[in-house]
Amino acid sequence: MEKRSVVVIGGGPAGLAAAIAAKENGCDDVLILERDSNVGGILQQCIHAGFGLHIFGEELTGPEYASRFHEQVDALGIEYKCDTMVLDISADRVVTAVNTKDGVIQIEAGAIVLAMGCRERSRGAVGIGGTRPAGIYTAGTAQRFVNIEGYMPGKKIVILGSGDIGLIMARRMTLEGAEVKMVLEVMPYSGGLKRNIVQCLDDFGIPLRLSHTVVEVRGRERVEGVVVAQVDEKRQPIPETFEYVPCDTLLLSVGLIPENELSAAADIDINRVTNGPFVDQSMMTHTPGIFACGNVVHVHDLVDFVTIESRLAGRGAAQFALGQRKESGHTLDVKPGFGVRYVVPSTIDPSALHYDEKFLFRVGDVYRNMILEVKNDGEVVYSKRVMQAAPGEMESVEITKQLAEKLTGSTVEIGLRPADAK
Ligand SMILES: Cc1cc2nc3c(=O)[nH]c(=O)nc-3n(C[C@H](O)[C@H](O)[C@H](O)COP(=O)(O)OP(=O)(O)OC[C@H]3O[C@@H](n4cnc5c(N)ncnc54)[C@H](O)[C@@H]3O)c2cc1C
Repeated sequence: MEKRSVVVIGGGPAGLAAAIAAKENGCDDVLILERDSNVGGILQQCIHAGFGLHIFGEELTGPEYASRFHEQVDALGIEYKCDTMVLDISADRVVTAVNTKDGVIQIEAGAIVLAMGCRERSRGAVGIGGTRPAGIYTAGTAQRFVNIEGYMPGKKIVILGSGDIGLIMARRMTLEGAEVKMVLEVMPYSGGLKRNIVQCLDDFGIPLRLSHTVVEVRGRERVEGVVVAQVDEKRQPIPETFEYVPCDTLLLSVGLIPENELSAAADIDINRVTNGPFVDQSMMTHTPGIFACGNVVHVHDLVDFVTIESRLAGRGAAQFALGQRKESGHTLDVKPGFGVRYVVPSTIDPSALHYDEKFLFRVGDVYRNMILEVKNDGEVVYSKRVMQAAPGEMESVEITKQLAEKLTGSTVEIGLRPADAK
């Protein structure tokens, strides 16, 4: 069986950054396995600008951002196999993959980095009633059709879901000559970045209807229209508000699901809130030597944060493979407090930190004028003012040396409290 110090599964931005960091931290035989025919992941189809502001201080398109890392991978001589599907990983780090050139291959890895990204939720996951005609696509599929394959999915479009992909596709379809009738969002707030609401909807006069959903699809061969409705506070459609909207296409942007079938089959502990593996400060899962980063761990809003997180995973994987991993045995559980849905990492060993790590988290609702608190066994050890926090934007707290020295107990809790409450 072939042996490698680090095997990275997935050649998207997470996998590329992790592989580069593993190589830079001393592993010479890193291998990336990618099922697509190119590396770059989902960025290959994201031809709009908006990537790289944090890492490069400039606005790049998705392919430009990916190519910067692709070039580094080539310059460092990191090997990658495209058109190669990983079928299985085992807890003792044997990776089984298949491609048409090598057939089935098995690789014994010193450490594995999971970087498989996520996939979109489809119509079945949201349970829309009505007929099942052609003309219903996930927003990412439509994006691939338009930006890579050169097909227009339709002319009169309704978009369900105001996450970033839905917002970006509203603008993209408009630029390509389609009429985007409206973007509907079941929640009372958008799941996307504020900048995308302004640049993708407001600038093009596309209405965003909050607390609205699609209750029925109509049409036999092709979508002819949808019935939309306002929802109440329990997200139930209000019958008096039903409205028929003629259209030929319904795009769904109703959430992303981390691709964790491989992880689950290897018995890696999965967080039911994020649907990604629990990880520690070095992005190691509960299974020793198996690391994870990027959208496979939790859905990120900006790819720059994927890169930053994935560098930690690559460095951690290299240290594990080279027998250089530090562990003090003193680990704290990191838990979400009031208003916070989840926190990554879920455990932390303060003495193993490099002080470039962060607590990354998302809130569960829109909050204004709050204090964010980090508590060590119930005692506040760090706080900062948060003027506004929304579920669509990831929040973070840097784990500085100063903060780490205060993490002496058994639990860390990150939560919000109203600024005017004691
Ligand atoms: C439509 C859209 C618009 C976006 N717009 C922006 C934006 O404007 N700005 C921004 O900063 N971010 C944006 N993002 C987010 C950004 O693209 C993601 O955060 C980033 O791509 C996640 O990187 P990743 O490597 O974790 O996942 P991915 O890019 O999804 O890469 C995962 C890779 O793993 C591979 N893989 C999966 N399973 C296997 C397997 N079993 N074997 C082998 N390979 C496998 C996949 O083929 C894929 O190449 C956007 C995302 C989307 C979908």
